[in-house]
Amino acid sequence: MKRICVFCGSSPGSRPEYAEAARHLGVTLAENDIGLVYGGADVGMMGAIASSVIATGGSVTGIIPRQLADQKVAFTGLADLRIVDSMHQRKALMEALSDGFIALPGGLGTIEEFFEIWTWAQLNMHRKPCGLLNVCHYFDRLLAFLDHTVEEQFVEIDHRRMIIVEKDPLTLIERFRTYQPPVTDKAKWALKMNNS
Ligand code: AMP
Repeated sequence: MKRICVFCGSSPGSRPEYAEAARHLGVTLAENDIGLVYGGADVGMMGAIASSVIATGGSVTGIIPRQLADQKVAFTGLADLRIVDSMHQRKALMEALSDGFIALPGGLGTIEEFFEIWTWAQLNMHRKPCGLLNVCHYFDRLLAFLDHTVEEQFVEIDHRRMIIVEKDPLTLIERFRTYQPPVTDKAKWALKMNNS
């Protein structure tokens, strides 16, 4: 596991525990020699995690669309800041560079990024682990809704189980290391489409 992509809020949220959890994850990545890939901004949870990785001597790759970089939110002190043309290019590069994906608490951007990368896993477009760091129970109601999607038979239980949920960053990373992706009907179907 060389690099993990972290999706997280451009805001710090309402409680100090959120940014504290971002810093804790950053230190844990750096201490385990795992590089951070993230959205490249210097604000909110994003700034907190990037600063903590750098302060612990770890490596950070920021990927930011030009439009956001032009608004001066980019973390200009990063040794590896990549400016891309669109949100789509950013996500594709995040996926290509990373060996796993974690969402910390965040807003629409965080949720959208995490769900797209999980959707790609569901379709077997990558086989990398996806996890939520459930700080202060932030994701509890989302997880309850995901259980509902399974009960209503819109999501396969194996796809729901792909999401690794932990409160402690090191435990989450250890579960990433032993992750085995399921082979589901949808994945088989996607493979057939890819090969035809
Ligand atoms: P949000 O959760 O809505 O604050 O959005 C955060 C996520 O969307 C991050 O993981 C980023 O990849 C992206 N994003 C949103 N706002 C920004 C910003 N100002 N600068 C860089 N990336 C951002």
